[in-house]
Amino acid sequence: MVAPRLEIDLDKIRDNARHLVDWLAPKGISVTGVTKATLGAAGVADAMLRGGVQSLGDARIENLEALRTASIDTQMWLIRSPMLSQTNVVVANADQSVNTEPSVIERLSRAAIAQGKEHAVVLMVELGDLREGVPVHELSDAVRETLRRPNIKLVGLGANLACQSGVSPDQRNMMELSGLVDSVEREFGIVLDVVTGGNSANLDWALSTDDPGRVNNLRLGESILLGCDPLHRRAIPGLHVDAFTFVAEVIEAKVKPSQPWGEIANAAFDGLKPRTGSGNVRQALLAAGHQDVDPDGLVPSTGIRILGGSSDHLVLDTGCSDILVGAELKFGLNYSALVRAMTSPFVQKVYSTVHA
Ligand SMILES: *Cc1c(COP(=O)(O)O)cnc(C)c1O
Repeated sequence: MVAPRLEIDLDKIRDNARHLVDWLAPKGISVTGVTKATLGAAGVADAMLRGGVQSLGDARIENLEALRTASIDTQMWLIRSPMLSQTNVVVANADQSVNTEPSVIERLSRAAIAQGKEHAVVLMVELGDLREGVPVHELSDAVRETLRRPNIKLVGLGANLACQSGVSPDQRNMMELSGLVDSVEREFGIVLDVVTGGNSANLDWALSTDDPGRVNNLRLGESILLGCDPLHRRAIPGLHVDAFTFVAEVIEAKVKPSQPWGEIANAAFDGLKPRTGSGNVRQALLAAGHQDVDPDGLVPSTGIRILGGSSDHLVLDTGCSDILVGAELKFGLNYSALVRAMTSPFVQKVYSTVHA
């Protein structure tokens, strides 16, 4: 088979989506499946939908466009604020977008009028993680500006925590979001249907709280794809953590000294731990590198250690195993390794079929 490749088990992705949807439904929380780590792969989107997600979200309009072209039929949300230069294509391909800038909403409105459409807007609120979000004291003005734009429907408020500064979603900040929803509804005499509280980092809070307040949606990517809670980098019990497998081929296998020799300066990539140990190691070279995957995010099988990587090579200590040239080695992936592998044109994507 072709290597390097990413083997993708769509049944496991469907199962993960199904479990999360089922766990959150009793709390009144719907799930938007976030496809951005998979370059908007139609198979992955379809598996999420079979698992019961209510809509799909992606940070890149190109990915939503690809899903439309692949005839994926569901509500699609752009979950990154649109570029001014892309407002036309956003209105054409996304049913809803998250927003923080009045000038962008104004252009979305013009695009929506030109296309004879209505575009739904969620205003993101800054709750402390310091990435996207309207500061709380500017929220009223932002709502007023949005409401006066033709062909724009303000459907709700949202927040995103943890991604930038690691601020944990908790009862306090989620209640703050709920309170803002109530006060906007009161001030403007409107009803906000969508209160999208966050991403996979919200699961700890969402699954344990007795009172989700007004929060009725989460946008979940990593937890569906990798079964992982990004806040604590832990596997979520009951979910598959091995829906994705990275496979690469051995191109050299030799016994070599564990320590390099000669004057040591900089290597091609930083961040390498210096080699430890003495004597010899069984070293294997894989035909895959930083251009294919994030070596730091690969999880080898027991007994195998990743010593380092450059653009096109990974260097392994294979321990006791006698690995031959031509052998294929398999790895688990974290989010960073997954994103790199999905976006690399050198990595073949091999999908298992979904069994309904
Ligand atoms: C990436 C992203 C998500 C999904 O995050 P996961 O940690 O993968 O669940 C949700 N919302 C926004 C705004 C994002 O950028």
